[in-house]
Amino acid sequence: MLDTNHKIAIKNLNQPSTSSVTCTSCQACCCRLEVMLISDTGVPQHYISQDKWGSETMRRLNDGWCAALDRETMLCTIYEHRPWICREFEMGSVECLEERAELL
Ligand code: SF4
Ligand code: SF4
Repeated sequence: MLDTNHKIAIKNLNQPSTSSVTCTSCQACCCRLEVMLISDTGVPQHYISQDKWGSETMRRLNDGWCAALDRETMLCTIYEHRPWICREFEMGSVECLEERAELL
């Protein structure tokens, strides 16, 4: 499934986090968004897709989930090497809450 949404790094300035919103109570909802690779964090090559212009994104499976997500645990299998955008995606941000509202 092609998802045109992008996982973007925007700090949450307007909406405070709530204690009920945590990654541990989530199903990695944000890991269905497109993740552009804008710096080298050591993501293994087999998890990288490249378009004809050379832009790199995290490879996604047909159902939209990131290929680096462990589907049993719903945890990132390359956490130490995850892309910069994944590091910056903020729990409790507007984007986080939108993804959770759609999937949980
Ligand atoms: S950042 Fe938000 S959407 Fe992503 S795993 Fe954590 S709670 Fe879920
Ligand atoms: S690299 Fe890890 S944190 Fe980033 S979208 Fe994929 S599974 Fe989620």
